[in-house]
Amino acid sequence: MEDILTVNVMTPDGLVYDHHAKIVVAKTTDGEIGILPKHAPIIVPLAIDEVRVKRTDADTHVDWIAVNGGIMEVRDNIVSIIADSAERERDIDVSRAERAKLRAEKMIQEAKEKENIDALKRANVALHRAINRINVSKHT
Ligand code: ATP
Repeated sequence: MEDILTVNVMTPDGLVYDHHAKIVVAKTTDGEIGILPKHAPIIVPLAIDEVRVKRTDADTHVDWIAVNGGIMEVRDNIVSIIADSAERERDIDVSRAERAKLRAEKMIQEAKEKENIDALKRANVALHRAINRINVSKHT
C-alpha cells in the first residue's frame, strides 16, 4: 500500500476537495482523530468542525475545510468525507457567516423566551455552523 492518502470531501453541491495528503485531522463526535496512510478501515460521524489536511511532509502549509457534520470513511488510503455542506477556507464568505451568526443568536434568544426546545436546538446548530465557518476563514 502506498504511503499517501487521497482525501475527498463530497456535498450535495458536488466535490469540495480532492487531493493527495500525508495526514488528515478531523473532529469526530467522540473527539479528534488523526489519519495517516495505512490507517485501519473506519466509518465515523463528524462534528461541525474544521478538517485539517497536510498535503506533504516537507510543506508546512495546511488546507482547512469547514465541515458541517457528516461522516468520514477511511479505507485503502482513501479518506472520504460526506457532509450536508463543506467549504474550504478560501471559499468562505465571512460576512455571510457573520450575518448567519447574528441571526442564530437572535433565534436562540427568541427560542429561550418562548421555551421552544426544538427551535433552540436548531438555532444552536446554526450558530455552531456560523462560528465554525468564521474560525476556518481565519486560516487563510
Ligand atoms: P446561511 O444562513 O448563510 O445560508 P447556513 O448555515 O444555513 O447559512 P447551509 O444550509 O449550511 O447554510 O449551506 C447552504 C449552502 O451555502 C451550502 O452550499 C454551503 O456550502 C453554502 N454556505 C453557507 N454559508 C456559507 C458561507 N459563509 N460561505 C460560503 N458558503 C456558504
